[in-house]
Amino acid sequence: MKNLKKLLALTLAVLFVFSLTACVKDSDKTTVSEGKLTMATNATFPPYEYIEGNKVVGIDAEIAALIAKKLDLELEIKDTEFDSIIPGVQKNKYDIGMAGMTVTDERKQQVSFSSSYAKGVQVVIVTEDSKIKTTDDLKGKKIGVQQSTTGDIYASDDFGEDNVTRYGNGNMAVEALKAGKVDCVIIDNEPAKAYVAANKGLKILDTSYAEEEYAICINKNNKDLQKKIDKALKELIDDGSVQKIIDKYISADAE
Ligand code: GLN
Repeated sequence: MKNLKKLLALTLAVLFVFSLTACVKDSDKTTVSEGKLTMATNATFPPYEYIEGNKVVGIDAEIAALIAKKLDLELEIKDTEFDSIIPGVQKNKYDIGMAGMTVTDERKQQVSFSSSYAKGVQVVIVTEDSKIKTTDDLKGKKIGVQQSTTGDIYASDDFGEDNVTRYGNGNMAVEALKAGKVDCVIIDNEPAKAYVAANKGLKILDTSYAEEEYAICINKNNKDLQKKIDKALKELIDDGSVQKIIDKYISADAE
């Protein structure tokens, strides 16, 4: 009987160790080994990523395509919520996240970042008749943001969570502004321009709110991929390919 118990305990211990190894293996698996580069994005962020037809297009999609080509991988883009990109990369559900994503110290604790490939600016969208003239007027106002973006994080810090309403994406935040549910929307400058161009009666304040760097996020444990991405990105920055793509979507005179 005693021996039987021992045997049972041993069997359980062995099974436990096996299941642990299985877990580690599973979560370590990326699609790169299958010849694919899986990129997570949120395609409501023109001109970096948006849907055209049934495809995700934009600056990030084009840069990612060139990186994948250099790495001899097939690019697969997954459109998801912005705030599930980092958790997905951490779980190796996606190999990279590319979504006009700002490098922040907090995010650096969760994922690795490539070198930066573009600059972003947080700006404020208001209605044309708004009394808000500068960012100093934002105190006590109802601010709309995209959930979990830097606009959300900074606005919540500076003006208090009670004054901030979070929306699933930029489009929803802009709709709320048009409907008078919020007094302004804080969002990155390029999507802001696209939203203002697509919607009558809106404008962007002249004073910007914060300046930031966009980069590709990668699983912290995936050092090999990180190195490859950094090398490919550096080549594409050095030979002017990245700038060419950015210029294709963002005209210099609109800056
Ligand atoms: N740059 C912002 C951030 O990283 C917004 C990105 C986005 O909405 N796609 O938080």
